Amino acid sequence: MSSLNKEILKQKVTAAILAHKDEIFSLAQSIVKEPEMGFKEHKTAAKIADVFTKHHISHATGQGITGIKALLPGRTHNRKIAVLGEMDAITCVDHPMADATTGAAHACGHHAQIAAMVAASIGLKESGVMEDLDGDVIPFAVPAEEYVEIEYRNRLRREGKIKYLGGKSELIQRGAFDDVDMAMMIHLATDGDSHRTVYIGGTSNGFLGKMIRFIGREAHAAGAPHEGINALNAAMVALMAVHAQRETFRDEDHVRFHPIITSGGDLVNVIPADVRIESYVRAKTIEAIMDANKKINRALKGGASAIGAEVEITDLPGFLPLANDNNLTELFKDNALTLLGPDSIIPLEHHAASTDMGDLSHIMPVVHPWIGGVSGNAHTRDFKVVDPEMAYLISAQCMAMTIIDLLADGATKAKQVLTSYQPKMTKEEYITFMDSIH
Ligand SMILES: [Zn+2]
Ligand SMILES: [Zn+2]
Repeated sequence: MSSLNKEILKQKVTAAILAHKDEIFSLAQSIVKEPEMGFKEHKTAAKIADVFTKHHISHATGQGITGIKALLPGRTHNRKIAVLGEMDAITCVDHPMADATTGAAHACGHHAQIAAMVAASIGLKESGVMEDLDGDVIPFAVPAEEYVEIEYRNRLRREGKIKYLGGKSELIQRGAFDDVDMAMMIHLATDGDSHRTVYIGGTSNGFLGKMIRFIGREAHAAGAPHEGINALNAAMVALMAVHAQRETFRDEDHVRFHPIITSGGDLVNVIPADVRIESYVRAKTIEAIMDANKKINRALKGGASAIGAEVEITDLPGFLPLANDNNLTELFKDNALTLLGPDSIIPLEHHAASTDMGDLSHIMPVVHPWIGGVSGNAHTRDFKVVDPEMAYLISAQCMAMTIIDLLADGATKAKQVLTSYQPKMTKEEYITFMDSIH
């Protein structure tokens, strides 16, 4: 196939995406209005399934509790490319679109990922271009990217409903990515005023999760504090001891430790006997995460020891550091450049946030660009889509056009991407590593 024909396929898919603009916008709006937390995205899943059904896109529900894995068959089936969209919201009670009961809001913009993933799927399906492509496309709505509500998810774990706390991690261990060769997604840019910008390439932090419990002894807070062991004091000394470790963290490791106290005592006139903290330990490499974690655990034990309290530390498998595949990044960048012009492309080096796309990047080539069209900062009340064409449609076009580049011409480019990709882990090594953290 000549590059001219590739351009024709791209034009067809673009026309099909734009022809379904109203449907895509209303799906995004509907998801924003009913935000759901990870592994609880049942209404979101039903909405996505409805659109797939309407467009005769075959799909399987209940993947990792709420995920949906669809299939757009190509002319031949040797290569399989997943297009991902994350389904979950975060808690942001002050967000204007927050759910009144749960406080959940799409303050990380994952609704835009679903809109873009579904738009790309509709575009590829309704344009008929799949018949000219040598490989299948797997549109995949994935649950629970935000690593939150750790107590709740740990309960799901104990009940045997999930093994890992992140959606993609869980799907990898369930074998849902066993038939996938490479994966792509978009995420909205996390800083405000990124209207017509695509941030692309680079790496991001990984982390492990922590649940920490300080155990003291209750006593009357005024009448007999000398009889008690103050678990809140132990926690505070422990956190100060962690802060004293920070000068030992190397700048290039991008270490982040950001605890919250989820339970700080029961009654004001009782010395706290049970204080709980959740946190992550993040860094750029697995080695740096493990090094920081060792120091942090030492500090936590020191805080407990100083007050005569006890501490229980539970380490949980988190997300691995993300590395974007260079070849996929170049293809995506070329398409973004065609649509938006050279001034819109900003190459990234390292991002201190984390994503379970990092886990996938250890076993297959992935691309995870950040796309503008928003104002406000992610995870705050101000975060919102202000340019829906950019957030939902340009995103979808970039992904669909990249798929055409990969799978046209006998999937030559897809083969090149796979040949030059060096996996950091096999799936089995990945599971062994995750299970080693506890
Ligand atoms: Zn987020
Ligand atoms: Zn996010």
